[in-house]
Amino acid sequence: MFRASVLTIFPEMFPGPLGLSLAGRALNDGLWSLEARDIRASATDKHRSVDDSPAGGGAGMVMRADVLAAAIDAASPAGDRRPRLLMSPRGRPFDQARAAALAEGPGVVILAGRFEGVDERLIAARGLEEVSVGDYVLSGGEIAALTVLDATVRLLPGVMGNVQSGESESFAEGLLEYPQYTRPQIFEGQAIPEVLLSGDHKKIADWRLAEARRITAERRPDLLIRPERSESRD
Ligand code: SAH
Repeated sequence: MFRASVLTIFPEMFPGPLGLSLAGRALNDGLWSLEARDIRASATDKHRSVDDSPAGGGAGMVMRADVLAAAIDAASPAGDRRPRLLMSPRGRPFDQARAAALAEGPGVVILAGRFEGVDERLIAARGLEEVSVGDYVLSGGEIAALTVLDATVRLLPGVMGNVQSGESESFAEGLLEYPQYTRPQIFEGQAIPEVLLSGDHKKIADWRLAEARRITAERRPDLLIRPERSESRD
């Protein structure tokens, strides 16, 4: 079973949205597990503080390496084979390929930062992989952790109702998804493209591929030239 542990000072944010819908049903059915650990439980002073002022001065607070190390060691003892991720705007951008790789493994340990971030020494000392969910700054790593878990859990065997819906969606083949339509046949004067009503499966597949290529070229030309895209999914 895929085991997720999240280290946070706001454990009440979990499972949050992951307790609903596909991920929530899978959690209830035991297809994956989620443990949210309070970092404050690893603090040693009477105020249970996890942060302190930055060495060298400046604004804000920094999460202490010793407290975080104790929290990681409690959640993930030596011999735990799960990758350890630190949510961080400096990290490698999270993508569908990373989600698929995580889904194939034993689980994940995720450290959600707060304040100005974490003491740099912790990162190497506990082998943390910095992962970003986008080029913007969140107020904490919890929503980033939920994002990483949501994208990963829906790829676990048995979680997504219709397996095929994962095979044709955005990024699966290095392309963005083609346009989708459903009833009514006419919406405010706009009809569904005729080819989709033709019943000709070959023509429909060709049209969808052409549309996926057109939309990708228009919106995300970087996806068409990215060399690693062939390993994203097979
Ligand atoms: N001072 C930091 C930002 C700290 S934001 C900087 O300039 O880089 C506080 C925490 O939110 C971070 O430690 C991280 O865990 C989380 N966070 C913020 N933006 C994020 C992003 N784009 N991706 C992943 N985590 C993020």
